[in-house]
Amino acid sequence: MDIITGRIYKPDRLLYYIQPTEEEKEQFFVGKIPQSLAVYDGAFGTYDCPGLFRVQNGSSLLEVIGIEFRPGDSRINYPQELAAVPLPKGFMVTALFTDVDYLCNQLIDDGICQMKEKMASQNLQSNWLRPMKNPRVIQIFTLNNCNRVLIDAEPMENGDFLEIIEPSTPNEKVLYQMAYHDLITGHYNWNYLWPHIIGYGMDGLQDFSFVHFDVKDFNSINVVYGHDVANNVLSRIVGQMNRMDWVYGSARCDNDNFAMLIKDMPEEETRQKLYDFFDGITVLEEDPNYHIYYRCGVVPMRNTLLLGDRVADAGKQAQRLGNRIYETEVLFYTDQMHDELEWSIKIKAYFDTAIRQDEFLVYLQPKYDINTEELKGAEALVRWMYHGRKLLSPALFIPIFEAGGLISKLDDMVLNKVCGYIKEWESRGLELYPISVNLSRKSLGNPNLAKHLTSIVDSYGVSHSLIEFELTESAAYDNQDYMISVLRELRELGFKISMDDFGTGYSSLSLLTVLPIDTIKIDKSFVDHIGNVQENKKECATLKHIIAMIEELNLNSLAEGVEDKEQIDLLREYGCEIVQGYYYSKPLPVLEYEEKLK
Ligand code: C2E
Ligand code: CA
Ligand code: CA
Repeated sequence: MDIITGRIYKPDRLLYYIQPTEEEKEQFFVGKIPQSLAVYDGAFGTYDCPGLFRVQNGSSLLEVIGIEFRPGDSRINYPQELAAVPLPKGFMVTALFTDVDYLCNQLIDDGICQMKEKMASQNLQSNWLRPMKNPRVIQIFTLNNCNRVLIDAEPMENGDFLEIIEPSTPNEKVLYQMAYHDLITGHYNWNYLWPHIIGYGMDGLQDFSFVHFDVKDFNSINVVYGHDVANNVLSRIVGQMNRMDWVYGSARCDNDNFAMLIKDMPEEETRQKLYDFFDGITVLEEDPNYHIYYRCGVVPMRNTLLLGDRVADAGKQAQRLGNRIYETEVLFYTDQMHDELEWSIKIKAYFDTAIRQDEFLVYLQPKYDINTEELKGAEALVRWMYHGRKLLSPALFIPIFEAGGLISKLDDMVLNKVCGYIKEWESRGLELYPISVNLSRKSLGNPNLAKHLTSIVDSYGVSHSLIEFELTESAAYDNQDYMISVLRELRELGFKISMDDFGTGYSSLSLLTVLPIDTIKIDKSFVDHIGNVQENKKECATLKHIIAMIEELNLNSLAEGVEDKEQIDLLREYGCEIVQGYYYSKPLPVLEYEEKLK
């Protein structure tokens, strides 16, 4: 069991529920919610996902599947056809189960009643909350393939609650002013707003959304118009925040970053209010031709699983997704973003340990000559035996390591392993074919790349002709001249180069004539729909021309992701030379690949 974040506070709610059959309970654990509840999932006014509840209701005990609503709001469509029971306001802590089997077998047998003991024994508590001895509410629900348990909690005696100081003496007033205000605008700062967020529910603020925003390209205003103008922009933003009756609290956090606690409204209403808000401060008074645009992230607190201290991160995370230059963007945070953030923090922290414990495996996917149907080589594809238990596909971690800069280490590790295998096959007298490894865009920024790769390969004494580097098409675009020089260097050293995923991303045909490459890997999307020539005339014509063009450029063509015989026949007819795909073989563990070598 993993412990992650806990929602810290839920206001009074109404639980609308059905009495589930055994089958409905089982289905629930694989993510299927009875239709009568599913229709309300995510509607305005709901709290959380639908869940399996155990509720202490007076002297009776309910075990039901239900969905929670905020009571008494005329804008909400309550499920009139369902039975309802009130749930008291209170704090909750959350645990996350990745082990679904455990949940299904163990938990259902035990009854969720015993959860409490288990969670207590796992030391489940936040730094100031712990599960109640006799919880009034226990909820289990599934989100993004993980099962979560929410349990009624109480603040601990020694909990480190933050308090908002109310000044009384003149000295305190000065200190207070300095500690909780921002010097430039005179407005509140983050220190002031922060306790309101983490302790929400206690001072009357029960339902709100958290908003975090900044000014796009604020630095330009500073540089072009000077500090005074830039400071005026900040002050006008403060004025705008103060004018809105739906803004409960606000702060200037730092530089051009602002935060607000705003009234909880349906998503569309929130969006409209925020766009209007920014519309009112979009013109630079000192130069009406200059338009100011904003990037804004919104976290509706009623629908997130976040602990207070993660809310700000969530707001910023949503905000960061706004990357259009000449446009104000308002972006809502979702629980999926939450899980992705959680996952990426977790695996980045664990990466070095995983490398040390040798959890990364290399699979090899054979490449075949389409005419002779003989083995031509293979591509090395990484897999992760996560914590030694679960095999993860690269889609779950490569993009995260690419963004975080860890990818070069991973690519080095793959190259090391591949060289080790080739050396061993050589010593056993097996026939040797080239193996290709993927080179990430991030690695291409290393000015000593060619030297670095060569030193790895040479340390095994492997012939350069047996190693090929695959670069993704987008990789080739970052810095074209630099790319060309690195590739030329690698080729002069005797390595082969192929361009991966050709046709996806930003295709530029002109680039093909200048890049020093040997092979073009035609992306799977081009061969996906060519099964029937009559029905897919356009797709077939495109593919045919791509292959002809590759031939004309004197490069080798390889088709990726080929799954059936019709595709093979057509590719052969069009003159494609090499094929990599499930039709011939899936990526194989090294021992299985070895069996193909004579
Ligand atoms: P890619 O380089 O385009 O690799 C080909 C992917 O297509 C592989 O997925 C492979 O299993 C899959 N594939 C091959 N034939 C078929 C087919 O017939 N049908 C279908 N549906 N799929 C097929 P995989 O192994 O999940 O790798 C995904 C991506 O992860 C790779 O795409 C590559 O971009 C990245 N990757 C994998 N290993 C590494 C690595 O060591 N370093 C780096 N930087 N990236 C890697
Ligand atoms: Ca590849
Ligand atoms: Ca590819």
